[in-house]
Amino acid sequence: MRRKAPGRMKADDAKRAPRGARRPLLPWSLKRIAAALERAYGAPEEPISSDPLELILFENVVYLASDEKRRKAFSTLCSRVGTRPEAILAASEERLLEATSLGILPSHQALKLRAIASRAKGLDLGSIVGRGGREAVTALKAFPSLGEAGAERILLLSGAQALLALDSNGLRVLLRVGWGREDKDYTRTLRSVQDALKDQVGTDIPWLVRVHQVLRRHGQSTCRRSQPLCEGCALNRGCSFAAAGPKAETQRPGGPHLRARRARRRNAP
Ligand code: SF4
Repeated sequence: MRRKAPGRMKADDAKRAPRGARRPLLPWSLKRIAAALERAYGAPEEPISSDPLELILFENVVYLASDEKRRKAFSTLCSRVGTRPEAILAASEERLLEATSLGILPSHQALKLRAIASRAKGLDLGSIVGRGGREAVTALKAFPSLGEAGAERILLLSGAQALLALDSNGLRVLLRVGWGREDKDYTRTLRSVQDALKDQVGTDIPWLVRVHQVLRRHGQSTCRRSQPLCEGCALNRGCSFAAAGPKAETQRPGGPHLRARRARRRNAP
């Protein structure tokens, strides 16, 4: 039996399709997505550092703060304390709070900075990360707040390994465009997107860093978790979410209906 080509409607299907139904899309390639976003936003911002320890400190210096505040907090940490483990362990709490108080729970974040410093002290983090692979991911996951996705980000941004590292913003964009499948489990969702794109990742680390940065920016500013600004979005013509129309947001796994169901379950006697 002949199978239909994926993602394309034949003329007969189009005739049978109900009025107003939209044609399913093949998602744009990673290269095309990244190029469209770079045209829209310009060259993405460089990561704050390529040093693994500094990248870990950057992730932890503030909790729930904008990128602008995070960068400011990190720059305060660099100028007032430094980023070497010995300097952080020797710093007074007051000094650490100068940096961490740009976000919420500043004392808690100051404790995390100390925990990071004491774990990193005596560890040749550069060599461990430089070797890449599972050993590096496991070593990185032992630091506060770094799960699988965070560890992969450190590997990419430090230039150690070419991989499609994504934060939650980038992951949301690629899912909506049509790559991978959303799952209740964040890591499984991440893996499904990475698997779907594995043949497009290549080995060009600087390009993959730009992809990470520009997807993050797009997810923060346009492809927001709720009420994405699809009209005028640079990916609109190649995005399954936009093609499915406004109802898509409430029907997707993890959308408001699922959150409401989870809340009902949580509140059940
Ligand atoms: S068209 Fe909408 S859903 Fe698709 S990438 Fe753009 S903002 Fe996100």
